Amino acid sequence: MTRELVGHYIGGKEVFEGEDRGPVFNPAIGREVREVLFADDGVVDSAVAAAKAAQAGWGEESLARRQRVMFDYRSLLLAHRDEIVALISEEHGKVLGDAGGEFARGIEVVEFVTGIPQLLKGQYNDSVSRGVDAMSVRYPLGVAAGITPFNFPAMVPMWMYPVALATGNGFILKPSEKDPSTALRLAELFVEAGGPPGLFNVVNGDQRTVARILEHPDIKAISFVGSTPIARSIYERAAQAGKRVQALGGAKNHMVVLPDADVETVSEAAVSAAYGSAGERCMAISVMVLVGDGGDQHLEAIRARMQQLTVGSYLDPKSEMGPLITNVHRDRVARLVGEAESKGANILVDGREHPMAKEPGFFFGPTLIDGVRVDMDAYQEEIFGPVLLVLRAPTLDAAIALVNENPYANGAAIFTSNGGAARTFIRHIDAGMVGVNVPIPVPVAYHSFGGSKSSLFGDTHVHGEEGIRFYTRAKAVTMRWPGEAKIATGMHFVTNS
Ligand code: NAD
Repeated sequence: MTRELVGHYIGGKEVFEGEDRGPVFNPAIGREVREVLFADDGVVDSAVAAAKAAQAGWGEESLARRQRVMFDYRSLLLAHRDEIVALISEEHGKVLGDAGGEFARGIEVVEFVTGIPQLLKGQYNDSVSRGVDAMSVRYPLGVAAGITPFNFPAMVPMWMYPVALATGNGFILKPSEKDPSTALRLAELFVEAGGPPGLFNVVNGDQRTVARILEHPDIKAISFVGSTPIARSIYERAAQAGKRVQALGGAKNHMVVLPDADVETVSEAAVSAAYGSAGERCMAISVMVLVGDGGDQHLEAIRARMQQLTVGSYLDPKSEMGPLITNVHRDRVARLVGEAESKGANILVDGREHPMAKEPGFFFGPTLIDGVRVDMDAYQEEIFGPVLLVLRAPTLDAAIALVNENPYANGAAIFTSNGGAARTFIRHIDAGMVGVNVPIPVPVAYHSFGGSKSSLFGDTHVHGEEGIRFYTRAKAVTMRWPGEAKIATGMHFVTNS
């Protein structure tokens, strides 16, 4: 379905309200293809009211019914796969295979929550004291909200709302205003699958829409994914407003390569992890640390593989890498490459010179920079483009210290055939997700995703058991029934016997 104007999805239908609007581009052609409406306070309030009303019934539904809706939703998502993948590529620019990959990883979370009865089993102890039993159970929070970035218009929202809905909550999604259409289709299909209209709403908008979400008293929890400065601010504001909050920020993911690493494995991993999705992945490899004296063989192999990379539009099936999201972002990536060059780094492959960089889309060629130092902006800042920086470290310990000095701590990977070295790395590296000969260690849906330091504000990761915990409130119940044991009397603090 092609929309000219993207509205909001509230109460089971698309709503066109709000005075302000913004442009939505197709980055592969560099042209605006539609507009998106921005929700004002009234629109946010009506979405929250719809979610609150629908949640009252949904929270009382049996686990079996919630489970069946999720099974049906999964089937519908798969039936609409090609349509949604095309929508992701059109507004984001990533190639179709990559869009299909993010959609598949999102569906994994829906599959995870089809097991919701098992996931919400709780705990029970018979006879914690004579005639007294104890149980711990988890209940939905009410209405939760998600605020998501442009780079995974399907997968990142799907880290959140399937878990929130299956645990019995209502949900308000505020997707990125840069690629808003996918979220609307995801919400429409939930209602088609039998989800109650109003339970899952989408409000489009910018920071003003977010401001209302953060202050709304009926929103009990906020999940945010985006850049670090915004994540930090969302964390502070949501916590100030008394909400539960998890705010995932930016990243600078390092790949540490030991001298015994296989050259072909390293080059394949580096090229796919640094340049896939034009480097606009929070788990992209943006820094390679070569340990020891050698290492040039890796750079030669990477350079050779880069020559074969096809950069182009998602409409061309040969394309392996698409454009960046906007012109402004492309200029920023070029500035950071220029800064590294002016401070003495060695540009081995220069994306600014790529033939596609002269085309109308927002293309920037894959870039490889050796001789990078930690004081360069290109190292200090998250570039979020197809740029791989290369640094050297004399030993594994020095490499680990270098990575741990970096303010970000999302993912980190080691490439080696030495189990002892890998174990040392796993134990001492400061990152939330660690790969051993795996460059992008994105956990499967039944484990949890998240980093630490400037990559996560809050302490709960998304999906997996931590996701279930985030969207539910615990109650510990201690029960005694008449007849089994006599009621304790006296004023002393209760002890067990
Ligand atoms: P962004 O921070 O600009 O925007 C994210 C969301 O916040 C959007 O919905 C946007 O509308 C909203 N927003 C923007 N400015 C705001 C403000 N001042 N106040 C309130 N809300 C605001 O991020 P982006 O450019 O869309 O996405 C790229 C960033 O997301 C990168 O830094 C990337 O590393 C990060 N990211 C992190 C993860 C992770 O798991 N840690 C995953 C994906 C993306």
